[in-house]
Amino acid sequence: MRALSKVALLRPPTSDEQIAAMRSHVRDSAVDRPGVYRMISSDGEIVYVGKSKRVRSRLLSYFRAAFPEEKGARILRDAERIEWEYVPSEFAALLTELRLIKRFRPRFNVAMKRDGRNYCFIKVTKGPAPKLVVVRGPGVDDSAIYYGPFMGALGVSEAVRELNDVLGLRDCATDLRMNFADQPELFDAFPRTPGCIRFEVKKCLGPCVGGCTTQQYDHRLTLARAFLDGTDDGPIEHLRHEMQQASDRLEYERAALLRDKLKRLEALRGQFARLRFAVETLSFVYTVPGHEGADRIYLIRRGRVRAELDRPATGADAARLLGLIDEVFTPMERNTSQIPTHEIDELLLLSSWFRRFPGELERTSAAGNIAPLAAAS
Ligand code: SF4
Repeated sequence: MRALSKVALLRPPTSDEQIAAMRSHVRDSAVDRPGVYRMISSDGEIVYVGKSKRVRSRLLSYFRAAFPEEKGARILRDAERIEWEYVPSEFAALLTELRLIKRFRPRFNVAMKRDGRNYCFIKVTKGPAPKLVVVRGPGVDDSAIYYGPFMGALGVSEAVRELNDVLGLRDCATDLRMNFADQPELFDAFPRTPGCIRFEVKKCLGPCVGGCTTQQYDHRLTLARAFLDGTDDGPIEHLRHEMQQASDRLEYERAALLRDKLKRLEALRGQFARLRFAVETLSFVYTVPGHEGADRIYLIRRGRVRAELDRPATGADAARLLGLIDEVFTPMERNTSQIPTHEIDELLLLSSWFRRFPGELERTSAAGNIAPLAAAS
C-alpha cells in the first residue's frame, strides 16, 4: 500500500484530481466581487473566458455540473488551472470579458453573446459581384463591410430585397460563378440566360451571364452603399437623372419604369431611416460606481468606449479627464452607418446594457456638462 502511494505521488494528476485541486484553489482564494476569469489548459491555451458579478460563486458553480456532457464540466476537463482578476463593477466585467474573448477567441466561447433579438446588420460580401446580406453580427470573415445596426431583421430583409430589385443587385448563392460582360474569354463558356427569374424580369443586372460589366455592377453597388450609409441620396438622384434623360429622348416606357423605381426608393429611404438604430444616442460620459469606491468613468461615443479612467481624485486628474473628453468628443465624425467590424460587438454590448438597465442612463452626462463633475471631484 505504501509503495502504491509513492507511485501515485509521482504520476501526473488524473482529471478528477486536477479538478479537485482547481476547486480547492477557488474555495481558498476567490471572493464574491465582480471579475473575469480564464480557464487555461495544460499547454497554456485559454479555453474559456467568463465574467461574473460574484466570481467565487460563479466559479464554484462549475464544479456542481450534474452531467459530464454539460458545458461547464467539459470546460473543467480541458482546463488545468483557473485564473481570475477583479474589476470595479459588473459593467467593467462585461467589457473586459468581451475584449478578452475577441483577443484570445477561446474555443468554448463559440459565439459572442449577442443580443440578436433586436439588432441586425447589412453585410456587403466580398468577391466578384458583392451582394447585401442581413446578418446578426460579424462572422469570422471580419474584413467584410457592415452597415447598421438596424432594428428588426424581417423588415430590414424586405427593404434589402427591394433595394436589390431597384438597383439590379444579385441575391443568389455567394459562391455562384460570375461571368461579367468584360470577360470576353469566358463569353462562350456559359449559357446566356441563368434560368433565374430576377434576370428575366430585369431585377438583376445578370453578372452571372454577362448581363453587365464589372464596372456597371460596381457602380450600382456604390449607389446601394451610399443609400445604406444614410448620408447620401445618390441612388435617388441617379434614378431621377436617368428618368429625365429617358423622358428627353421620348422613351416614355423607360421613363415610367424609372419613375416607379424612384418612388420605391424614396419609400425605402424612409424605411431604412426608421429601421436604423440611432447610435448617436449612445454618446455620453458614464460614471460607474466601483467596488469600495473604485469608480470608473467611461467616455462613450457612438456606442463605443473611446476612453476610460478612474474617477478624478485630484485637480490634476480632473484636468486630465477634461482633456480626454475634449479629445474624444470634439473631432467631427461623419454620421455614417458603416461600422468597423471590430466595434460591432462592443456597440451591441453597450446598447443591450442600457436597455436592460435603463436606470443606468441617470449616471450619464452629456460631454459638455462634465465640467462641474470634474471640478467637484
Ligand atoms: S441573374 Fe444571376 S447573378 Fe442575378 S440573381 Fe439571378 S443567378 Fe444571381
